[in-house]
Amino acid sequence: MLSASPLLSAAAGGAPLLVRQLFDAPTGTFTYLLADGASAEGVLIDPVFEQHERDLALVRELGIQLVACLDTHAHADHVTGSWLMHQASGSAIGLAASARAENVTLPLDDGSRVSFGARWLEVRSTPGHTDGCLTFVLDDQRLAFTGDALLVRGCGRCDFQQGDARTLWRSITGRILSLPDACLLYPGHDYTGRGVTSVAEEKAFNARLGGGATERDFVGHMEAMRLPHPHRIAEALPANLRSGRPRQPQPAAAAPWAPVRLSYAGLPELPPEWLAEHLEAVTVLDVRSREEFEGPDGRIASSLLIPLPELEARASELPAAAPLVLVCHSGSRSALATQQLLKAGRSAVANLRGGLRGWRDAGFPLEGPTSD
Ligand code: FE
Repeated sequence: MLSASPLLSAAAGGAPLLVRQLFDAPTGTFTYLLADGASAEGVLIDPVFEQHERDLALVRELGIQLVACLDTHAHADHVTGSWLMHQASGSAIGLAASARAENVTLPLDDGSRVSFGARWLEVRSTPGHTDGCLTFVLDDQRLAFTGDALLVRGCGRCDFQQGDARTLWRSITGRILSLPDACLLYPGHDYTGRGVTSVAEEKAFNARLGGGATERDFVGHMEAMRLPHPHRIAEALPANLRSGRPRQPQPAAAAPWAPVRLSYAGLPELPPEWLAEHLEAVTVLDVRSREEFEGPDGRIASSLLIPLPELEARASELPAAAPLVLVCHSGSRSALATQQLLKAGRSAVANLRGGLRGWRDAGFPLEGPTSD
């Protein structure tokens, strides 16, 4: 068993399960990260291609060992991030076997189980929106991830991708609303900020199938809907049938001057170990006050001092060519400075992760006031 990540245990509040809901605003897509607090093993449900860096940063910050990415279905409105995550972390790619997509390493069927640490998800086939739609139900039936089968007060459309309203009715009523009333349901999408619902709530208030509606009511409602074609379908579906693997090799990340990693907060960061080996190749910009710079905490040799409040006015003093690594005491003020410089149009900029404190704790030397 893996050693538990202390951060993950803390994030899970001592409980055995961590659940995070992530959002892709342009497509209204929810992505879910689940992890077993004891073993740090986790799964990611419905990752979005364009959000890969964000998702990877969170997985790394929480120390999660990603077992699999699971797609609830072959999406028509966004490209999955499963293949990118597989490349980055070795996680399996799970999708309904019936979708017959390329690059799937974990073909799923009704009744499959996906384990992560001591926890597991039951795979339920819930067709109707597409014929390969799956719902993932947590082992204790307290949570379920319904993809586009059931949405908050709505449901997925049935007018393309082998959709069928009668099939969807049977899936929702027989396989999702048959879960315990208190079971929380997490949808694949929402466009108005509704992130979670429950079996009891949808039974009572779902306008299409709750409150005593019959199959005939539901089918009548669905068949009368006139929805525009999803505008990304021509691009998204073929890409998802390759599990999100790009057709062309991806160009290397822009400006590969350093192994910069984006934090979950969206900030480019470098570890002290890299900076120690590349001090000659970069400008270290210290944004503390002059008192701190010359004080007992010391500074990194040959670093340039521009206190944060003066940075904007003194931007012309920065060497134009060399990449910049920003430092302060803990990495907090330098984070702000990094954002400021990125906004001003500099690209080769990164924050020193952990600041001078992290640098010192890693055993790297600091110059003191007496060594001038
Ligand atoms: Fe969908």
